[in-house]
Amino acid sequence: MEKLYSLACNCGRTHQVSGTDAGCDIHCDCGQTISVPSLQQLRISAGESPLSAEMTIEARLLKGQLPEETHCLGCGVTTTETAYVTVSCERPEVQARGWTLNFFALLFGWISMSWSAGHEQGRDVSFCLPLRICRECGQTPSESKVRDFLRKVPLYRQLLDKYTAATWSALRF
Ligand SMILES: [Zn+2]
Ligand SMILES: [Zn+2]
Repeated sequence: MEKLYSLACNCGRTHQVSGTDAGCDIHCDCGQTISVPSLQQLRISAGESPLSAEMTIEARLLKGQLPEETHCLGCGVTTTETAYVTVSCERPEVQARGWTLNFFALLFGWISMSWSAGHEQGRDVSFCLPLRICRECGQTPSESKVRDFLRKVPLYRQLLDKYTAATWSALRF
């Protein structure tokens, strides 16, 4: 069952909303419209730990809420163009494990077989992230330029800060 959060209207009535209502408007019996905050804010106001950047991104992608910008991240012109970039985030702990695996694989080839099976559980995360970029700024930008675009979006910046070994593809429209 989905978790419910309480949301109060100015009139004093309390409404129960779920995570799927986040970002939508609900109507109170008093006639007022209440905008439900983001899931992140709902969780924080309910005393829960904030969602990770990955979870927030995944939820917003599913709801088609990204990109949020209305202006090009490069030049600031108003645009409806969206470029996509695939960001691959490697889990740092998996990398560390891989090292141990390779080391043991040299010594005990057969043991490494069973070990690597468990290794696959720590899968890498990758996202196809939409960016608000005009055609002009999206013309073959360098890899560091793409990173600058990504870092201008607070949510994507959180992701890159967390996965410092993340790699990203070229932009495509
Ligand atoms: Zn009300
Ligand atoms: Zn631009």
